[in-house]
Amino acid sequence: MSTLSDKYIAGFLDADGSIGLQYHKEGQKASLVINFSQKTSQDKVISLIQEKCGGSINYRIVNGESYTALNVSSSNATKLLNRIKKFLAIKRHYAECCLRMVGEKVYEREETKKYLKAQRKELSLPVPKFPPRQWLAGYFDGDGCLSVNSINKYGHAQIVTAIASSNFDTEGIETICKNFGGKIFPYRDTVKQWRLNLMPSKAKKFLGYFAKHLIAKKEQADFILGCAAMGHYRDGNTIKAALKQLKTHQHRLNESGVDIGKLINTVKDLPKPWNKEGLYECVKCHLNKVEHTALGLCNTCWYEKHGREYYKQYEKTHTRNRPKRQSEDYIADKAM
Ligand SMILES: [Zn+2]
Repeated sequence: MSTLSDKYIAGFLDADGSIGLQYHKEGQKASLVINFSQKTSQDKVISLIQEKCGGSINYRIVNGESYTALNVSSSNATKLLNRIKKFLAIKRHYAECCLRMVGEKVYEREETKKYLKAQRKELSLPVPKFPPRQWLAGYFDGDGCLSVNSINKYGHAQIVTAIASSNFDTEGIETICKNFGGKIFPYRDTVKQWRLNLMPSKAKKFLGYFAKHLIAKKEQADFILGCAAMGHYRDGNTIKAALKQLKTHQHRLNESGVDIGKLINTVKDLPKPWNKEGLYECVKCHLNKVEHTALGLCNTCWYEKHGREYYKQYEKTHTRNRPKRQSEDYIADKAM
């Protein structure tokens, strides 16, 4: 098992970790504590961080869902933060601020709390010119999202990636947006969201940059890269179903992975639905140049594939509460 790099842990801490100071009584020396939390079904990263940095794991239930929390404290936390602070893009300022206070005696608890809260909202400047691959992998594993946004009338999927962050934590999405494109939108009052339409060329440029360092979302990224290699997402429904399956797949230590190559093979390399004149080619018979297709099929092929079921369904819904004879006439009439 490869151990995590400091850059990856920094990215993951920027997304899903928190840094804090402990000082139970007034006059007591402050010590550092770092927390990470993930759904238990996806807690592989947490286990790997514990392997490298120590700390204790506990489980708690929030809204019926089990979460795994890793608590790294005191000297382990100080050691970890000193090692990774230079790679932090978002929480660097706050990390340095907390590290300066470690070992100091805290007398004014409320004042200290207020001071730390204000420092937490300070930006870590300058924003990195370019996000390092491993930092981005950690950050994306924590806060990134890949999804099929919509399927258009030809069945093509539109794949979108998004990262949300609070208004005072935008350094990460700013550097990503600057380097890979996309847009940052106000999402809720206190949250901003970066979104990028991952058309195949963008998927290769963005995911291709850091996918090999991912842990929690590696399968999803590899799958999309496999689809992008075809140059299109025309088999939208298959892609959507596969991505959904990958999202619900557990990522725990010693859990076996999904065979991504096999999954990519289920995605059909469908031809373009229209020619240069703007006429559609049937995906089945390839012969008809028609102005309209349904699911890529010409009229003839569509009825061949769906017609019988369509009429069966039609018969079922239209014969209910009706004398049989009348419906038979109707179907006969329709068939003419
Ligand atoms: Zn056809």
